[in-house]
Amino acid sequence: MTTQPQQFASDNYAGICPEAWAAMCAANTASAPAYGDDEWTARAADAFRTLFETDCEVFFAFNGTAANSLALAALCQSYHSVICSSSSHVETDECGAPEFFSNGSKLLVAQSADGKLTPQAIRDLATSRSDIHFPKPRVVTITQPTETGQCYSIDEIQAISATCHDLGLKLHMDGARFAHACATLQCAPADITWRAGVDVLCFGGTKNGMAAGEAIVFFDTALATDFDYRCKQAGQLASKMRFLAAPWIGLFESGAWLRNAEHANRCAARLAAAVEGLPGVRLAFPVQANAVFLHVPHGILESLSARGWRFYTFIGGSARFMFAWDARFEGVDLLAEDIARLAVETTAP
Ligand SMILES: *Cc1c(COP(=O)(O)O)cnc(C)c1O
Repeated sequence: MTTQPQQFASDNYAGICPEAWAAMCAANTASAPAYGDDEWTARAADAFRTLFETDCEVFFAFNGTAANSLALAALCQSYHSVICSSSSHVETDECGAPEFFSNGSKLLVAQSADGKLTPQAIRDLATSRSDIHFPKPRVVTITQPTETGQCYSIDEIQAISATCHDLGLKLHMDGARFAHACATLQCAPADITWRAGVDVLCFGGTKNGMAAGEAIVFFDTALATDFDYRCKQAGQLASKMRFLAAPWIGLFESGAWLRNAEHANRCAARLAAAVEGLPGVRLAFPVQANAVFLHVPHGILESLSARGWRFYTFIGGSARFMFAWDARFEGVDLLAEDIARLAVETTAP
């Protein structure tokens, strides 16, 4: 078998990290009750309560689209609306699932270059109309870190939640890469969630080293009423729940959840440092998590593809590279060397 260079088109290219894998193996040693009535699911939910230092309600879904959609549906009636940024996953990458699972709650989109919402943008949208003909604003959803890899600071989240509170809105966080934000901000998970006013978090396991799975964490536990029924109806209640739950125990008890994210962030910083300042190469966004978006001349993109590198250009035409727990420094350096060589060749007089 010839070894191909490691690819960084998506953090979902990675396999399962050893800690998550070991926990699944440990859960596979005997039979256990189904549908979440097992000791692994109870332990995993407790591990969340320990990590977040609070008595939250925790549910496990297969993927992030379901987690986001069902969480938002739980916060809304069909005549409500959800404020989000124009580049948010719920708006651009969930095939209408939030609207579908909420029976029609409308997404109200704020234009945003870096994917962040601001208190002003939220206020403008929430107060733009108050008449009966417009879907009533009910929820704000923010992505931490954003789809382009920017982190909201604790202060920014607090300011957003204060605005939400003022306007009577709930605050949801899409944390598909929540661990990466914790690694960047070096704060307690509680500091950027419930302590800062977040009501519901979708915590991504898949991009943190699991095979599959996202946790929906209700800090406002009253909002979790009947959420188990919502999951079941949506086809998101795993019968062998222990295999969705156990990996979380492995990630949290070993500390791998944070180590994996720190490593991924370090790889992004390594690529950014290596290519920043090369002729024609510009970082499209500040690198604050595990993503690097490069603005480079079109010819360089084509040459990179021709050399076998995979990347997406769906956000603003810049090339996206994403790093996961399994990224190897040698692989990052190979990519950086190719970009550097092409940049110098392409711009040589
Ligand atoms: C990956 C991702 C999700 C979840 O996507 P699924 O493919 O449904 O698991 C949600 N939000 C963001 C910001 C993501 O990057």
